[in-house]
Amino acid sequence: MQNKLNIFDFDRTALRELFISMGHPKYRADQIIKWLHQSGETSFAEMSNVSKKLQLELTNIFEPQTLHCSKESISKDGTIKWLFAVAGNNLIETVYIPERTRGTLCISSQAGCALKCSFCATGKQGFNRNLSTAEIILQLWQAKQRLSELAGEQKITNVVMMGMGEPLLNMKNLVPALNLMLDDFAYGLSKYRVTVSTSGIVPAMEKLKEVSEASMAVSLHAPTDKDRDILVPINQKYNIKQLMQCCQNYFEKHPRRAITFEYILIDQVNDTKKHATDLAKLVKPVNCKVNLIPYNPIEGVDYKTSTPQNIASFRSILERSNINTTVRKTKGDDIAAACGQLAGDIKARTKKQAHKRIANVI
Ligand code: SAH
Ligand code: SF4
Repeated sequence: MQNKLNIFDFDRTALRELFISMGHPKYRADQIIKWLHQSGETSFAEMSNVSKKLQLELTNIFEPQTLHCSKESISKDGTIKWLFAVAGNNLIETVYIPERTRGTLCISSQAGCALKCSFCATGKQGFNRNLSTAEIILQLWQAKQRLSELAGEQKITNVVMMGMGEPLLNMKNLVPALNLMLDDFAYGLSKYRVTVSTSGIVPAMEKLKEVSEASMAVSLHAPTDKDRDILVPINQKYNIKQLMQCCQNYFEKHPRRAITFEYILIDQVNDTKKHATDLAKLVKPVNCKVNLIPYNPIEGVDYKTSTPQNIASFRSILERSNINTTVRKTKGDDIAAACGQLAGDIKARTKKQAHKRIANVI
């Protein structure tokens, strides 16, 4: 017997196409998307506005598989981290960060990451595979169900693709998941509140702006190639000049949007006054916001977090150049849920295989 399809792999357009090919009107796909993603209903038999005949047909084709949650950790600051088991013996992590006016879900896009940024726990463990569309969107689906079970006032208003992995090396599966996040028949999140964070995969950034309305964040971390080549090694392939040109091109498509530049602050590595003035000069021509992220210590890496004085002075140099600057509060560090601390447990393949896969995706 042929394997059944996981219906969570389909965005509304793909499901409509399938339904039309099965001889059903496309609005049926809209109904099913609502049941799955808005009501959280996975049993076709419970979908009361769907005929018994269609329910049976769907049961024969689809098996709505969800993720297995291996562990839930709740921080004293309210941050929640879930460890999900996905096929191939990989564990991936998803983090919910509650704040006064919003709730942000940080989602993983790959099991591991091949890009080996020098400060990142995910990069340290290597790469196994891309997550499927279902595995990406189910992190949101399951977090939403779980938060309603916890019966608090907690809601997911924002999604950031800032968990494990480089989302733009998994465009094929990422884009349908973004479509569902932004679709009023599914999660209906605002395009300003769904953010894809990238280490700077220039050709994929060019493509993303054509196919999705989601917002973009760029992990810059250094204003010169000399420093960035070490911190973010993919810079050796797509350098700062190409990256900044690509950020400027973004506004031809999205004139009124702003790009967020993320910048980790590591003591004496990229946090001097010179780094700050160079950074201000570099980002000035782009309509942007800079988000400073105090480095979160990870095991086996010798970096230190910048001192509070250096963080304040770095910020004020940027602000003096009229650059909108925020400093990210560290949340969930008691459960290793802070930025860059997500490691899950993935079965890394060889470096060679991982690089071959990346070359295929770009
Ligand atoms: N691969 C993508 C998205 C995942 S990483 C990217 O690099 O943008 C999400 C964010 O966490 C990035 O800005 C990354 O630079 C940051 N990060 C990684 N390790 C960190 C650490 N140890 N401390 C603070 N931020 C870290
Ligand atoms: Fe990969 Fe992002 Fe970590 Fe770099 S910072 S290793 S791109 S997950």
